[in-house]
Amino acid sequence: MQHITILGATGSIGVSTLDVVERHPDRYRVYALTAHQKVEELADQCLRFRPQVAIVGSADAALRLSRLLAAKGLKIDVDHGEAALCAAASAPGCDTVMAAIVGAAGLAPTMAAARAGKKVLLANKEALVMSGRLFMDAVSESGATLLPIDSEHNAIFQCLPHAYQRAPDQHGIARILLTASGGPFLNRAVETLESVTPAEAVAHPNWVMGRKISVDSATMMNKGLEVIEAHWLFGAPADRIEVVIHPQSVIHSMVSYVDGSVLAQLGNPDMRTPIAHALAYPERIASGVDSLDLVRIGQLDFQSPDFERFPCLKLAYDALSAGGTAPALLNAANEVAVQAFLDGKTGFRMIDRTIRRVMDELPHDEMSDIEALIEQDGRARALAQSYLS
Ligand code: NAD
Ligand code: MG
Repeated sequence: MQHITILGATGSIGVSTLDVVERHPDRYRVYALTAHQKVEELADQCLRFRPQVAIVGSADAALRLSRLLAAKGLKIDVDHGEAALCAAASAPGCDTVMAAIVGAAGLAPTMAAARAGKKVLLANKEALVMSGRLFMDAVSESGATLLPIDSEHNAIFQCLPHAYQRAPDQHGIARILLTASGGPFLNRAVETLESVTPAEAVAHPNWVMGRKISVDSATMMNKGLEVIEAHWLFGAPADRIEVVIHPQSVIHSMVSYVDGSVLAQLGNPDMRTPIAHALAYPERIASGVDSLDLVRIGQLDFQSPDFERFPCLKLAYDALSAGGTAPALLNAANEVAVQAFLDGKTGFRMIDRTIRRVMDELPHDEMSDIEALIEQDGRARALAQSYLS
């Protein structure tokens, strides 16, 4: 029996995770569920899954949750805030942590799970993009097991040799081919991108996801973050990670070997597949996802990304090459600009302009420790805010 903490249980990944968990009551028990503001949804999840612990974002939300749980006759420990998230992610009562909070808010609890040697199922790519080497060091020092949930990285993981050692050359790997749908603006006239609305940007052609990652898919910053994520997970340098646009989102990524073999993982675009893979690894369990009907899909297309259309992808490659805290600056500026765009306070193209400005103006320091990283993150956010206003 695996005991699971789900960080971000009310989000898109959290809900898909609970869907898979519910199909296998003989294998999984929920230890803790966390949400930021959606107290009613969290209370309903508590009724269905009976965790020992439930955590929300504020004291006020915790009070409301306690009342709702009491009304349902549930005895569950309720807490709030970052320290409580870290405690739930590292508690002796849990062995697996689904890291599915969005953005830098997930860094501390995801890091706590890694330091505590848990089986970490990583959806929260921003945490790894920010902390890079520090996170990977925490994983290896504690003996944690790190399994990727991001569909591309999960696909790559499935295409890598057994006991892969984060060194492509040692395993005859030539390149990692990261597929990208291209998002909703792949074929839209570039000049019109200035005026796209949040509703247009979050309308992803293939995936249903949270709002922030949906905007990241429209700018292709999502793929940029994933290039950095692939670098850390698989030990591949930037020039060995190639982005290939594949609008159908059927091939989730590929690994190209020196003998000419290219291994791919395919499936319907449904996050329950990588979630089930990581939950059960190295076994396989049913996920609820329909089997792939290639004849019905008929055709698979590929093209190269255009950096003029998608400047955020280029900025992410630049940040990876710059190293140190540059990816953390990129991530922080992106989070601030995307939120401003979603709030209707700025235009779509201001996202890439804000990131460029922050990357140009702030020094790219060495990555010394988490405290220094958080300070850099704060400076990048402040500069991005002032630029946007
Ligand atoms: P979402 O917005 O649907 O859900 C986010 C979750 O995080 C919610 O439960 C919310 O309560 C919680 N949260 C938000 N702000 C918080 C804060 N400040 N403190 C604590 N909790 C907070 O997002 P999502 O689409 O589920 O994405 C979650 C993560 O998974 C992101 O890092 C995203 O990049 C990654 N991811 C998502 C998908 C997908 O298909 N949705 C695919 C790959 C990777
Ligand atoms: Mg992805």
